[in-house]
Amino acid sequence: MRTPGCSFVVRILVVLAVSASAARANVQETMTPLLLDMQDAPVPFKGSDGRVHLVYELWVTNFSSGDVVVEKVEVLGDGDVVQTLDSAAVAGRLQPAGQRESAGTLARSVQALLFIHVTLEPGAAIPRNLSHRITMHVNAAPPGQQEMTESGGSVTVDRKPVVSIGPPLRGVGYVSADSCCDASRHTRAAMPINGHVWLAQRFAVDWEQLDAQGRIYAGDREKLESYTIFGKPVLAVAEATVASVTDGLPEQTPGKYPGNISLDQADGNSVILDLGEQHYALYAHMQPGTIQVRVGQRVAAGQLLGLVGNSGNSVAPHLHFQVADKPSSLASNGLPYEIKEFQIAGRSPGTKAFDEAEEKGTPLVITPLSAVQQTKGALPLDQLIISFPGR
Ligand SMILES: [Zn+2]
Repeated sequence: MRTPGCSFVVRILVVLAVSASAARANVQETMTPLLLDMQDAPVPFKGSDGRVHLVYELWVTNFSSGDVVVEKVEVLGDGDVVQTLDSAAVAGRLQPAGQRESAGTLARSVQALLFIHVTLEPGAAIPRNLSHRITMHVNAAPPGQQEMTESGGSVTVDRKPVVSIGPPLRGVGYVSADSCCDASRHTRAAMPINGHVWLAQRFAVDWEQLDAQGRIYAGDREKLESYTIFGKPVLAVAEATVASVTDGLPEQTPGKYPGNISLDQADGNSVILDLGEQHYALYAHMQPGTIQVRVGQRVAAGQLLGLVGNSGNSVAPHLHFQVADKPSSLASNGLPYEIKEFQIAGRSPGTKAFDEAEEKGTPLVITPLSAVQQTKGALPLDQLIISFPGR
């Protein structure tokens, strides 16, 4: 039986169908086998190379029934290409969820993170918006139509102020290990916690220190006192309020990967400072019993917090330092920061050589800069030899 209501529904559907075909006439509909998404908008900052950097992750899901080979990714800043990743670069930066290995081919139904690092040309304006154009080979598409290009993953650049801080240590011969912005173990430390993927360590540094002979340790590898950095004072980077303190966890034996470390003990003896404006500084792996501050206390820039140790998830004494948007070392969004003043004396050959020097106690063969580079207001990039004011 027909009712007025039914014919009304029919009329609505007709109107919808008409408006849909009108829309089709204006907007071309194309298949986008890769779904592109962004979780954390990049915050531009100045690196120790004097350039502006944007570091973020593009989420890529292969919504097709076959492999997709990602051949090229162009990053567009306000519509202009600011970075091009060729197939080799993509293959080094595209990591399926939960994996450490990267690959340029995404199997069907797989979600991956593409770790992007844009370095702007000197003097270039910081783009307001970023988007992406991807060229790919889609195995599931009909023959002759498998080469495809799609665009997406648009995001507004986050222009929140970058926090300016003092040094977390003082003295010479420090190495900025696993610092920003490429294959660093911190930059890619995406962790699923409480149902969300966090990159708290995106801009973290594992500070190590070399002795006058360029060694991370001298003598017995398993003795804490063998390490150049062991026992060095850890300093408040700004006037701040102490947000969190963990103390009383034992030192680990250097050279051995600690077993049975729970998530809440991974930082070892640690302090989180509330720097204000949703910026929190984390210091991890300090010596037990050396932490000088308590929760709620106000501290001054340069104030002693504790001593460098090897507690928690640590294989050699070092200071893990990071800034994030919450007073949590893992369930927070890592933010860039700029250290007010430091000197760059040279470069390490890279992470592989650094790991070897840390394992064997052999000198790290550094490449000195022709002149010590005085650096103001910048984030120390990866594997540099750095001096902080004071001794
Ligand atoms: Zn670390």
